[in-house]
Amino acid sequence: MKSAVFYGRHDLRVEDTSAPKPGPKEVLIQVKACGICGTDIHIYEGDKGAAEVTPPTILGHEFSGIITEIGCDVQNFEVGDRVCIDPNHYCGECDFCRSGEVHFCERMVGYGTTVNGGFAEYCVVEQSQVYHLGDHTSFEQGAMAEPVACCLHGIDMCGIEPGYQVVVIGGGMIGLLMLQLAKLAGAAKVALLEPVEKKREMGMKLGADVCIDPLNENVKERLADAGMTWVRTVIECAGLPSTMEQAVELVGKKGTVMLFGLTKPDAEISIKPFQIFQKELTLKASFINPCTQQRALQLIDSGRLDVESMVCKTIGLEDLEEVLRNPKVRAEGKYIVNPGMIK
Ligand SMILES: [Zn+2]
Ligand SMILES: [Zn+2]
Repeated sequence: MKSAVFYGRHDLRVEDTSAPKPGPKEVLIQVKACGICGTDIHIYEGDKGAAEVTPPTILGHEFSGIITEIGCDVQNFEVGDRVCIDPNHYCGECDFCRSGEVHFCERMVGYGTTVNGGFAEYCVVEQSQVYHLGDHTSFEQGAMAEPVACCLHGIDMCGIEPGYQVVVIGGGMIGLLMLQLAKLAGAAKVALLEPVEKKREMGMKLGADVCIDPLNENVKERLADAGMTWVRTVIECAGLPSTMEQAVELVGKKGTVMLFGLTKPDAEISIKPFQIFQKELTLKASFINPCTQQRALQLIDSGRLDVESMVCKTIGLEDLEEVLRNPKVRAEGKYIVNPGMIK
């Protein structure tokens, strides 16, 4: 099978390897769609992100496909099933798992990070991590279930109540998902802060009440004009120190700031404790996708969450490295790899 193997910083090679065999409780998935995620870029750049990688490894953790083989002890799946995966497999036995905080598992196995993932024609996955796609869900949509599941964990932690006013900073794929999820959670008004015009247009299409160019407009004035005078939640999805500081600045009294964007590990921000005191602020962050995969899939299949408008292009394995290497290409939107696509 063809696969893109990560050998170390800036070293990705498309190779022919033999297809893996499923163990007793594993299924073999023919990968049809695998999203390129910020985490893949952090790994390609040699940064420490959410997961530790020991090369050589096949990356790609946001994928869907068709089951082509099952192990002898597999119960809930058959050959031919359309599925996607939750890439993070928890041990169930460490202190964190046994306390219900599974995403802090000390022996977590991550498909596409700690073990081989979906930037390959085939991948073996434990049945516990496999989910059926709904009848209305395409492979591309199924590949988006993992990022949606991560956003759901974040939105749950925001505690948005019906009627709240919410600001989302950053109109990339994650920001556009968050804006929709904030609406679904009951927000009365949602504003999107995004410097790129095309992304602001997308934000309006996906239900934002106002989209603001933070580099050329007065954000507070625009918010006030839109009747957003008590912002209860700010969701930061740009991952920059400057926008994180802006989030603390913009949120209103009793507000919650969700620092969702991933910064460089050594990034620092400056916050005035007096502001936190004055507004009784809550600062939060959200780590991966504990137990939210099923809800993500149900939401996608219902048609109430648009996960496709932000996908800009499907590419083959040969073009993967260009996307990982080139931020200008990535700025176009979300890329999906179809490993079986012939150039
Ligand atoms: Zn991801
Ligand atoms: Zn564990």
